[in-house]
Amino acid sequence: MQKGKIGVTTENIFPIIKKFLYSDHEIFLRELVSNAVDATQKLKTVISTESIEGNFDDLKIKVLLDKEKKTLTISDKGIGMTHEEIENYINQIAFSSAGEFLEKYKDKKEAIIGHFGLGFYSSFMVSERVDIYSKSYKKDEKAIKWSCDGSPEYSMEEIEKDEFGTDIVLHIAEDSKEFLEENRIHELLRKYCKFLPVEIAFGEETEYKDGKEIPTGKDKIINETKPAWRRKPADLKDEDYRKFYVDLYPVHDEPLFNIHLNVDYPFNLKV
Ligand code: ADP
Repeated sequence: MQKGKIGVTTENIFPIIKKFLYSDHEIFLRELVSNAVDATQKLKTVISTESIEGNFDDLKIKVLLDKEKKTLTISDKGIGMTHEEIENYINQIAFSSAGEFLEKYKDKKEAIIGHFGLGFYSSFMVSERVDIYSKSYKKDEKAIKWSCDGSPEYSMEEIEKDEFGTDIVLHIAEDSKEFLEENRIHELLRKYCKFLPVEIAFGEETEYKDGKEIPTGKDKIINETKPAWRRKPADLKDEDYRKFYVDLYPVHDEPLFNIHLNVDYPFNLKV
């Protein structure tokens, strides 16, 4: 087992992250799911150009809630990370000084997340510990478990994992219990991930039988991977437009009419 210190000069950057992004705690899920989508898209590109052994029929991302263990897991079957990649992308957070950083970007929360590789670390806003289980698609690479409890100390060890991809396990902190509620996670996935291009499964489909909702054993997909604006008008029926509208505005009435505009910038609309 390898132990080490995450590359930040300040003793502990996590309380800073937590405080700084206080009002936006919920964005952690968007960040982790986007990483999972990126990793899956990258794997799709790789398998279309290289010959790699494996079964790639089902590349769904899964979000799993375990209330008893108090964990939320984001699981992808994407390219995964090697030991070296975890070292480079996860352990080394490129900050010269957390104080300087805070001062410089204090009005630009959005600019920080994403652009500075803080995406993954936003998970510490809601977790007391985060584990990564990852296996790279690259040949002869061992699967790795990385674990960190929010101090700059982390541990890393080799594990057995058959499938390529990454599981991010969040051990949800006492003050963030709302993220162990199925409804809350569902709401966030609908808010931030509704039109992401890889299927995201959360929970089970149910069907109505004998006066009860019964689980069908099938994954419930929460997103629309081919939204109407990415499709050609000739391929769309009235029902598709209606569904698109109702998906966006579930509490409104039916749409009065629809018009499909396919425009590029700059455009002038005169009515
Ligand atoms: P960003 O996504 O903005 O680069 P992150 O901190 O979210 O910053 O992630 C850092 C890097 O870690 C990513 O660029 C990617 O290389 C790697 N990474 C994160 N999550 C995953 C994942 N689920 N699968 C594969 N690689 C990942």
